Amino acid sequence: MRTHLKLPRRSFLGLLFLFSLSTSALYFIYSAPGIVNEYLFMVQARSIQIKENVRSIGAQVLEQVVRGAYSSVNGTDYAYDFDISEPYAQTTTYLPEGFTYLPNQRCPERLPSMKGPVDMNMSEISLEDVERSLLEEDGSLGSGGHWKPQDCVPRWKVAILVPFRNRHEHLPILFRHLVPALQRQRIQFGFYIIEQVRNEPFNRAMLFNVGFKEAMKDLDWDCMVFHDVDHILENDHNYYGCGDMPRHFAVKLNKYYYMLPYNEFFGGVSGLTVEQFQKINGFPNAFWGWGGEDDDLWNRVQFAGYSVSRPPGDLGRYMSIPHHHRGEVQFLGRYTLLRQSKERQGLDGLNNLVYIPQVSRRRLYTNVTVNLSRELAPVADSAPEASEPRLTLSGS
Ligand code: UDP
Ligand code: BGC
Ligand code: MN
Repeated sequence: MRTHLKLPRRSFLGLLFLFSLSTSALYFIYSAPGIVNEYLFMVQARSIQIKENVRSIGAQVLEQVVRGAYSSVNGTDYAYDFDISEPYAQTTTYLPEGFTYLPNQRCPERLPSMKGPVDMNMSEISLEDVERSLLEEDGSLGSGGHWKPQDCVPRWKVAILVPFRNRHEHLPILFRHLVPALQRQRIQFGFYIIEQVRNEPFNRAMLFNVGFKEAMKDLDWDCMVFHDVDHILENDHNYYGCGDMPRHFAVKLNKYYYMLPYNEFFGGVSGLTVEQFQKINGFPNAFWGWGGEDDDLWNRVQFAGYSVSRPPGDLGRYMSIPHHHRGEVQFLGRYTLLRQSKERQGLDGLNNLVYIPQVSRRRLYTNVTVNLSRELAPVADSAPEASEPRLTLSGS
């Protein structure tokens, strides 16, 4: 009897192999979304790059052939422009060094203080050290990271909202680059770090909704910038004011070889006026875990009749701080929700969200701590047969 229960050695190895194959597949499906996504976009960007290289090598070879043939005919050099590179937006219209503006006049948008490429320093630093050096640089930086220019009237009052959980080493790096850049842009600003506590999957979008509501209680901001903590701008000509249309700032990321991964990409850093954000009913609350919430915001913006504007050329370049954190669980329900973007826009967003925040003012930012759960944003069932408005759990 006992011999019947024994598995032959080969079947055992086969089973072991199948088991490890399926567990790694499950791991990639459920818990390594960013990694897989990043890899796919990298492969895509890499193949575009290779195609470009082949094209430019081809053009150079052709140039040599034509030049050789032409000079052998008449003995002169053949001057022909084979430059096939993408036209780069020249930024020559910045005001000259030494230009003075008046305290009662609106700050110009293209100031001499803006220097273009930012000095990048991604090394880790403590919050205290960044605080000290920013205050040494400009003592008028107020509590909560509030600042406004003294030499002109700011064009925009911008709240910078940062969704946050356990990325403490990123925060000082963000401040080190962004605070001086915004000061050079002569924008009025304040920072809000919206921190999710406990173990629910991360909800970037809901944190932004909370941040918006809390920031508006603090000051009458007119522009909201939704900013990932690990995105560092590389050029201060990438102006952080809002506009007639919602803006996508983080267009070219180093992790995607400085190429827009797809036309509808709206992640990383984006900005909307308070009016635009209210009109689209904010972010959806139902995206728990990684992925899709920025795509839904894109849809909301389109359904409201807006189009997205982006900084030209290389101004929208960002470096993302590599993270040594395990990828957040991916949100597998995102495709279903994205198909229902339009119907859900009026049901889920700023208008169905209640929460209890803990707000504390720190030196460089206002901290909003919040414990998020699905019950905080119930979605009224829009099914026509429901006579009473029934409540269902969002995202489940
Ligand atoms: N985030 C965070 N803690 C987390 C997950 C996300 O603070 O555990 C915030 C952080 O601001 C981060 C943003 O959400 O920059 C987007 O998440 P992540 O960087 O993981 O996304 P990816 O870059 O892989 O798209
Ligand atoms: C996800 C987005 C993400 C983008 C780039 C998309 O597949 O839905 O949330 O920002 O990839 O990583
Ligand atoms: Mn990131």
